[in-house]
Amino acid sequence: MTRYDDLRAARARYLGPSLSLSYERPLEIVRGAMQYLYDDEGREYLDAVNNVCHVGHCHPRVVKAAQEQIAVLNTNTRYLHDHIVSYAERLSGLFPDPLQVCFFVCSGSEANELALRLAHTHTGRSDWVVVEGAYHGNTTSLIDISPYKYDGPGGAGASRHVRKVVMPDVYRGPYRDGDTAGAAYAEHVKEALDAGGDQDRSVAAFVCESLLGCGGQIVPPPGYLAAAFDHARTAGAVCVADEVQVGFGRVGTHFWGFETQDVVPDIVTLGKPIGNGHPMGAVVTTPEIARSFDNGMEYFNTFGGNPVSCAIGLAVLDVIEDEGLQERALAVGGRLKKGLEELGARHQAIGDVRGLGLFLGVEMVSDRSSLAPAAELAGSVVEGMRDRGILLSTDGPLHNVIKIKPPLVFSADDADRLVESLDEVLEETPPE
Ligand code: PMP
Repeated sequence: MTRYDDLRAARARYLGPSLSLSYERPLEIVRGAMQYLYDDEGREYLDAVNNVCHVGHCHPRVVKAAQEQIAVLNTNTRYLHDHIVSYAERLSGLFPDPLQVCFFVCSGSEANELALRLAHTHTGRSDWVVVEGAYHGNTTSLIDISPYKYDGPGGAGASRHVRKVVMPDVYRGPYRDGDTAGAAYAEHVKEALDAGGDQDRSVAAFVCESLLGCGGQIVPPPGYLAAAFDHARTAGAVCVADEVQVGFGRVGTHFWGFETQDVVPDIVTLGKPIGNGHPMGAVVTTPEIARSFDNGMEYFNTFGGNPVSCAIGLAVLDVIEDEGLQERALAVGGRLKKGLEELGARHQAIGDVRGLGLFLGVEMVSDRSSLAPAAELAGSVVEGMRDRGILLSTDGPLHNVIKIKPPLVFSADDADRLVESLDEVLEETPPE
C-alpha cells in the first residue's frame, strides 16, 4: 500500500462514513496560497469553489493577525477587550440601520441556531417558513429547517413546525417571467404564513438565503425578498437572511446579498468567509430583537468572539477593503459570466448561466426545451476540470449545477483559464 492508500484506509476507519470526499480519486491537499491549493506531489490546483478562504488561502495579513494575537491572549468574552468591541463596531458599520447588535459564534450553523432562538424569543412563536432546497446547518433544529437535508437521502421529511415554499427559480420553477416572478414566488410565502391558523401555530420567521447556494446558485427574481418580507412582517414574523455563503462582497455590486434585493432583514447570519477559514460566525440584529432575547437567560459562547477570532475578522475586513475585493468580484465575476454565456451559445448542454459577482452557477441539461437535468454530465465535467487542475463541484436539487465561488483574489486570467478549460472538457465529454 502506498502512503496515499494508507491515509484513505485510516480515514475510512477513524472518521464517520457519512462524511464523503470530493472527486473519484480524492485529492490529498497539503498547502494553500491565495487562489491555489497544492497536493502532496506539489501539483497546483486553481480553487474555483472555496468561498470560505474568501480573501485567499493563508492570506499573509490574516495569518499574521492570528499569529500575533494567539501569542498574546486568547480567552473568553467575559473580560473587556478592545478587539471584540472594535470588531462589532466595524461589522455593524457595514449594515444598514437598524441592524446594529452583534453576537459572535463559531460557525454558520451556530449563527442560524441562534437566529432561530432570537426569532422565537422575540415573537413567542415556533413555526418557520423556509425555501425548498435550502441548507442552513448541521444541528438537529437546522436539519429540520433545511429541505436540502430533510427531503434528501436519509432525511425524515418536514417536521410539523416547518412550512416549505417553492424555490424562486426563474429557470426551472413555475414562474419564469423576470418582471412578475418575484411577486408570484412571494405569494407562496404569504400562503405558507397564513396556513397555520391559530396562535399556537404561527410563524416566528421567514428564513431565506439571500441567494440560494445548495438550491443551485439561484438568484431570486427582483422584488422577491421585498414582497416576501412584507408578507412575513404583516403576519408578525421576522425575516432572517442567511448570508453564510454570499456575504462579504462576493456578489460584487453590494457587500451583502440581501442588498441586491433592496431589503433590510431583521436578523442576518454570517459564517464561512467571515474568518477566511478560521471557525467563526456572527449574528447581526436589531436592538429591539436583542432586547427581547435579554429575558434573564444569559447567552454565553465559550469561543465565539475571542480575541484571536476578532483579530482575524478585522484582518479579513481590512483585506477586502484594501485590496478592493468587492470591486474585483464584480469585474472578474462579470468577465467570467460573460465567458460562460458565450460557451452556452456553443454547447447545448449548458442550459443556464446565472449568478452575481463571483457566485455563479452553470446548470447542465440534456435537453434545452424539457430542461431534463444532466447530473452525470455535470459530475464528469467537474472530474475533467479537476484533471486540468481546476477545482469545482456540483449542487442543486437535481445535482446538475456546477458551482463557481472562488476566493475573491481570483483574477481575470483565472477566469479566462476556467472558461477555456471548460470549453475543452465539454468538447471531450459525451452529452448525456
Ligand atoms: N447556511 C448556509 C447557506 C450554508 O451554506 C452553510 C454551510 N454550507 C451553513 C449555513 C452552515 O454553516 P457551517 O457549516 O459553518 O456550520
